Amino acid sequence: MKIRRSTSAAVAATALLASCAGAPPEPLSAPTAFVPPADVADAIRVHALRTGGTWRLLEELCTTAPTRLSGSPGAERAVAWSVEAMRAAGLENVRLEPCTVPYWERGDVGEVVVVEPAEARGERLAMLALGGSVATPSDGLEADVVLVQSFAELSERADEVRGKLVLHGRPMDPTVSPFEAYGGAVAQRSRGAVEAARAGAVGSLCRSLSLATDDVPHTGGMRYDDGVPRIPSAALSTLATDRIAGWLAEGRRVRLAWRQNPRWREPVPSFNVVGELVGREQPEEIIVLGGHLDSWDVGQGAHDDAAGCVQTLEAVRLLKELELRPRRTLRVVFFMNEENGLAGGRAYREQHADEMGQHVLAIESDRGAYTPRGFTTNANAAALSALRAAVAPLAAFGADRVLPGGGGADISPMGPDGVVLVGYLPDPQRYFDLHHTAADTLDRVHPRELELGTVAIATLAWAVAEAPSALPRNP
Ligand SMILES: [Zn+2]
Repeated sequence: MKIRRSTSAAVAATALLASCAGAPPEPLSAPTAFVPPADVADAIRVHALRTGGTWRLLEELCTTAPTRLSGSPGAERAVAWSVEAMRAAGLENVRLEPCTVPYWERGDVGEVVVVEPAEARGERLAMLALGGSVATPSDGLEADVVLVQSFAELSERADEVRGKLVLHGRPMDPTVSPFEAYGGAVAQRSRGAVEAARAGAVGSLCRSLSLATDDVPHTGGMRYDDGVPRIPSAALSTLATDRIAGWLAEGRRVRLAWRQNPRWREPVPSFNVVGELVGREQPEEIIVLGGHLDSWDVGQGAHDDAAGCVQTLEAVRLLKELELRPRRTLRVVFFMNEENGLAGGRAYREQHADEMGQHVLAIESDRGAYTPRGFTTNANAAALSALRAAVAPLAAFGADRVLPGGGGADISPMGPDGVVLVGYLPDPQRYFDLHHTAADTLDRVHPRELELGTVAIATLAWAVAEAPSALPRNP
């Protein structure tokens, strides 16, 4: 479907957009401001919602390669699928770009079983080993539990901790935004084992990083420090953590038996997957858009981050189908290894060091596929006002916010080169309910919310790629 400008259809589309958006957007004064014409913005939105292509891609990826942890056969299947999907979408210069990734395997599911208090003896608590953790001894580990709310409390109570299991139990702060709350609590997962081992503990458990109260445990990355004993590490569900906290508050002894057998394997050659819609006038100027292809090894990584990948692919496929080839090049990148290493993001920056000066913008979608709200960005003031102009048509469905903030982990290595980074921002309230869990599956993604995200990304990417003047770089 081609957009023909200055036709009666375009006039009708403009009227439709204006009626959806209320008053037309205020004129923006920045010299770089470029508001996508209403007929273009409207065509992108209508075509995406009518054809539902993002959902079909998501369904394919989630069923072809439901788990995609770096180094695993699932990740390899995902890479192969991505090449085919980019070719089928009509992208140009489809290729693999190498990176070497770590390979950690969960092994059996593992278990944490209550030994004390006696009335709960034998009950299994919902748990998942943390990514990167070592195994327990093969016949398991049995010890009393010490619950702490902070690393400061842990060091104050170091005498009590020796030979015990530390449970890092501080909930995410409910009074701030979910991503801020996650940032404030994630050290319990990523650093908990190191801090607990320093105090002499034999194992480290943490409360799942979620704002939900349920029995779904959340995995995620953790790391060890050289010179500190490597003790096993796992997450308990929020409900299981709350039960233990309740027993301890009553002065009861809590003792658990724990067994898990993950292992590290040798690093594996892997790939970022790249495809382009080459710019019609300034092809050397590049707008990157992408997500991360790897996921954790439970669930389907549907929100995190299959959705982000397929939204960016479908955004470019739509533009191609609408014959909206922009001035500059749109480059879709599916990054490998965001979850436990960032090898793909780093490799991309290294392999494209020579053309960083021609990277006009990088957009990442990695915050789930909920209702679009807008974008976050590290842009300087002039670029920020240009981005706000570019997303003005998204006011039609409330997705026209551009807030200061980060872009995303995979594109972050390009920040120091002055590349303006943008993160797609869906509604964040429920994102951490499913993050890194077995419940992050296709059926938890809403097709309309997913597709509107594609519309938001396509509109922004097209506007920046088509604008008469390039987006001002960051200093
Ligand atoms: Zn992610």
